[in-house]
Amino acid sequence: MTALVVSDLHLDPARPEIAAQFHAFLAGEARAAEALYVLGDLFELWIGDDDPEPHKRVVIAALRALADSGVALYFLHGNRDFLLGARFCEESGGTLLTDPTVIERYGRRLLVSHGDALCTDDAPYQRLRALVRDRRWQAQFLALSIGQRQALAREARAGSQTHTQAQPPMLMDVNSEAVAAVFRSAGVDTLVHGHTHRPAVHSLEVDGRTCTRIVTGDWYTQGSCLRWDASGLTLAALPRPARQTIAQPA
Ligand code: MN
Repeated sequence: MTALVVSDLHLDPARPEIAAQFHAFLAGEARAAEALYVLGDLFELWIGDDDPEPHKRVVIAALRALADSGVALYFLHGNRDFLLGARFCEESGGTLLTDPTVIERYGRRLLVSHGDALCTDDAPYQRLRALVRDRRWQAQFLALSIGQRQALAREARAGSQTHTQAQPPMLMDVNSEAVAAVFRSAGVDTLVHGHTHRPAVHSLEVDGRTCTRIVTGDWYTQGSCLRWDASGLTLAALPRPARQTIAQPA
């Protein structure tokens, strides 16, 4: 059997080609797996589980079909969809895990995380993260109307893009001390995270132990998936099938 790990789909009505590839993945490769882990930023924006946007409803239905077929479905919050909650889990048939979490399969323990908490060099982002992960802030936000929340989320996204573009690339990656600290406290030798959109398999030493940090990629131009079975871990790029290309008007 196989478990699959993905992250950073950033599903959004403006990017129908990602949704098309993800829906094909859910109906295809994922059906043959025993578990699917989504390590955050499944959605580009999530303003609350009561969001009626049809695009999101279609994704939830596809996840539900996968869960109903017997595939165990797990989610972590990303920095875009940290408001995914209990109703989303009920509707999609999945389970939210805390970040980070150790999962165990095939005789191996993996620490999984979205990855944004490891980017400690980006101090303004970490301050924002602490604010929006606060329960009182979230309760106040969720008490607003859907229209108000959509307006605020659009503003926040524009601010985030401006901030990201203004940062030196190094500050937007994980901090090596923060990485070493999670390896130490979890007592594992393999960490899988997304968020940085820099898919890679890194080998590093922590206190004399050889550890592996696997980064799953975003789905902007192709898919990215970590395949995990008894033979080990394989990070794969999923080429975008040509038949899913959206025809451009002449
Ligand atoms: Mn992210």
